[in-house]
Amino acid sequence: MRGEDVTWRLVQPAAGPGYVLAGDAAAILDPAAGHGVLKALMSGMMAAQTAVQMLTAGESPEPAAAYCAWLTAWFEHDAAHLRKWYSQLTVLVGSELA
Ligand SMILES: Cc1cc2nc3c(=O)[nH]c(=O)nc-3n(C[C@H](O)[C@H](O)[C@H](O)COP(=O)(O)OP(=O)(O)OC[C@H]3O[C@@H](n4cnc5c(N)ncnc54)[C@H](O)[C@@H]3O)c2cc1C
Repeated sequence: MRGEDVTWRLVQPAAGPGYVLAGDAAAILDPAAGHGVLKALMSGMMAAQTAVQMLTAGESPEPAAAYCAWLTAWFEHDAAHLRKWYSQLTVLVGSELA
């Protein structure tokens, strides 16, 4: 038996001095979102770009902040979509049971 903890979560901050998180290490929504692989690839590219910016921007917190804002916006967007989707599912299941 194997299992996976897909509790919705977002690491905050996902980037800071000396680190940038990407993929599931940074944020997870359950598989129904259907964006996990895309997010892993996109956040990997953004994380690489952010890491370069952090290395060249010295002490500036801006690259990490911009990355966190981008990641949070995507997470919140997908979470809102899933919440709406699940609420409709509950109505469907409820009406079938009635
Ligand atoms: C049941 C299920 C179904 C899914 N279906 C879909 C789908 O249909 N479409 C979709 O887009 N997404 C889907 N997802 C989500 C998707 O699989 C993930 O979002 C995506 O794989 C995340 O990629 P990642 O590279 O961040 O992490 P992972 O794919 O988890 O890769 C992390 C890797 O790091 C390795 N690792 C961990 N710790 C260490 C360590 N200490 N040292 C070295 N290596 C380590 C792991 O073994 C693993 O190979 C699904 C997820 C689940 C659980």
